[in-house]
This record gives sequence, C-alpha cells and structure tokens, in this order.
Amino acid sequence: MQKIRERLVNWASILDARTREQAERTAAMPFIHPHVALMPDAHLGRGATVGSVIPTLRAIMPAAVGVDIGCGMAAVRTQFDVGELRAQGSLAPLRESIERAIPLGAGHHNRKVVATSVPRVEELTNLAEEAGFDPSRDKKGWEAQLGTLGSGNHFIEVTVDEADRVWLFLHSGSRGVGNKIAQRHTAVAREACAGVDLPDPDLAYLTEDTEEFWAYIRELRWAQHYALLNREEMMDRVVRQTSEFVGTEVVEQERISCHHNYTESEEHFGEQVWVSRKGAIDASAGRAGLIPGSMGTASYVVAGKGEPASLHSSPHGAGRAYSRTAARKTFTHDQLREAMAGIEFRDAEAFLDEIPAAYKDVDVVMADAADLVEVRHTLRQIVNVKG
Ligand code: 5GP
Ligand code: MN
Ligand code: MN
Repeated sequence: MQKIRERLVNWASILDARTREQAERTAAMPFIHPHVALMPDAHLGRGATVGSVIPTLRAIMPAAVGVDIGCGMAAVRTQFDVGELRAQGSLAPLRESIERAIPLGAGHHNRKVVATSVPRVEELTNLAEEAGFDPSRDKKGWEAQLGTLGSGNHFIEVTVDEADRVWLFLHSGSRGVGNKIAQRHTAVAREACAGVDLPDPDLAYLTEDTEEFWAYIRELRWAQHYALLNREEMMDRVVRQTSEFVGTEVVEQERISCHHNYTESEEHFGEQVWVSRKGAIDASAGRAGLIPGSMGTASYVVAGKGEPASLHSSPHGAGRAYSRTAARKTFTHDQLREAMAGIEFRDAEAFLDEIPAAYKDVDVVMADAADLVEVRHTLRQIVNVKG
C-alpha cells in the first residue's frame, strides 16, 4: 500500500497518470471518509475509477457506483472431475446448449418470463412496491430480461481448478433496468448540484438530509438484488445444461456470488459510511470472493483478509490496460485465436477488445493484492461464452 495523498491510498503497481488524476479528483471531495482506496486493477472509468473503493459520509455520488449497478460474479463448484466432461467428447455441444439456454448480447431478452424465473420476478415486484417505485417506468420488459447475460465483458465459463474439479463461472449485472435507474439518479444528483462548482460533473452528489438521497438508496438496493437474482437464474440454467451434457445431475458443492459494483453502509474508521465499490469486492476476513482474469487466463476464488486501509476490499479482476478502441487498433484476430488455443469459445472478431493482452497481467494484480486476499482456488477455463 502506498499513500498518494492524504485521502488516496493505492495498491496498484500498474497505474497510469490519468487514472491516478481521476481518483485524486474523487478523493478531494469533502465527504470522503477516511480515503479512497485504489485497487491493483484500477483503470480509468466513466464517472469514477474502475477498481476504486469510495467511502462517503452522509452523502453519495450516484456515478461512483457506475451504470451497471450490482454487476458481479457467481460460481458453482460441481462434483465433476474434468475427465467426466472430457469423456463426452467435444465440448462444443455444451457451449452451444449454454448459448441457447441464455440470451446473450445487448438488448436480448427471453421471449417471455421463463417459468423458472417467475418466483424471482414476483419477489422483485414485491420489493419494488415496498421501495415505492415502478421499475417498468425505467425499463419496460425488465421482467423478461431477468436471466440474460448482456454484452461485452459479461461471460459464462466452464472452468477447472488445481485439483481438476469443474466450476461453473459467470459475470453479469442488473441489465437495462439497473442502467436506467443509475442514469435517472445521476441526473437528479446533477440537478441537486447545479449551483456547486464541481471538478467533474460525475462527482455530483446527494446528501442524507434529502428525500432524493433515500429514493436513490432504495432503488439502488433493488437493482443490486435484481443483479444477484439475474446471476442466480442464469447459473441455474448453466447447471441444468451441464447436467444434461454429462448425463448426471450436478450436485453443487459450493455456490458463491459477489457484487463488484455496489454500495453498502458499513463501519470504517469509527464512522458509518456509504462504501461504493466500483470494480472492487468485499474482502472482509474470511469472505469468499471471485476475481476473474480474462478470456484465456486464470481466474481466482479467494478469501478476504479484512485489510483495514482497503476498507476490507480487493480487486475485482485484472482491469483493463488498453481501452476498447486502443485494443482494436493494437491486436489482431489471429492473436486472439492464439490466446484462446485449447479453449472452446465463440470465435468472433467482435471479441478482439477482450483479448487477454488488453488487460493488466493478472499475476501482477494478484501479487499486488497479496495483503488483501488469500487465493483458495485457481480456475482455468475450458469453455468461454462472451455476451
Ligand atoms: P468489468 O466488470 O469491470 O468490466 O470486468 C471485470 C473483469 O472481468 C475484468 O477486469 C477482467 O479482468 C475480467 N474478464 C473480462 N472478460 C473475461 C472473460 O471472458 N473471462 C474471465 N475469466 N474474465 C474476464
Ligand atoms: Mn457489468
Ligand atoms: Mn462487472
């Protein structure tokens, strides 16, 4: 850990100047308590730095958590050994059945609310009523979007750990409805800060003494829960497809879920603060977490160490080293194929900006995170499905 300024501490050994400046602007806001923590995967983000932990006292910046409220990871450890999957021959049918079971890409829906997701949709409908808002006003069809992956960096994988055990692994968030909720409250915060001289409009905030603040918190919590249930719904389907592929029911040994874009009220350094983790996970002592690498590299199942200065946090991935545009200009489709050798994946040039080389070296990130988390398992993908 390295202190940059009074209110900014940093774990990233790979950190570019613009990212650092963006985090410094956030750290200079008067209600930060006690400091912003930059994680090893930190990189420039829209609104706030990805890979940052932003604790705020009696105020909140809606842009700090980002537009994909509740984005995060889920994993299931199955009873299968990799040999039991390989014995079925090619893994292509498993990949294709996952692709058929889960709508992929931006704006893709289930045709209707799928029977298995009905109880989850009902739960969300009741929660929205309690929270006093109508999610359909933000996003019509939010019900049918439950159990859909989304695009870009969201993915589903079949992976194998150091003991050859098979894990199912996926990344997604709160889809269209979470995005719309985030945008609406960011606009409200900008209006509330109309007379304030902000170094960046994305630092617009709401304060606890306003009704707007609490409306944001209620809807944020709902969107976070939507994201969690979205992952659960997809994971259930991936489990079902895997059972069918092997011809034996999956018996879940362990299921882990963690948000990496979210806000929670927590106590740190003597105050109850709103902790916004934007591209960071809860790494409280003993807490299970998931840190994906990239398509083609290792990912990690971790346990938190509860490091106080990090506000009990850790990185949420490798973090980008190249912007999407820069990656497209720098790398080739052949290099992507090379990086994915031996992995059953959907080979498309569209994923060029997701090439492992576009991300920081995950080994460096994990070394930087050594005082934040302990590695429990190292996962290597055998099947990758991108959104
Ligand atoms: P974010 O949610 O900030 O977009 O990304 C989360 C992290 O997921 C990235 O920083 C990257 O390390 C990781 N990642 C992106 N694509 C993949 C993938 O296809 N497979 C795995 N295992 N990790 C990925
Ligand atoms: Mn996301
Ligand atoms: Mn994410």
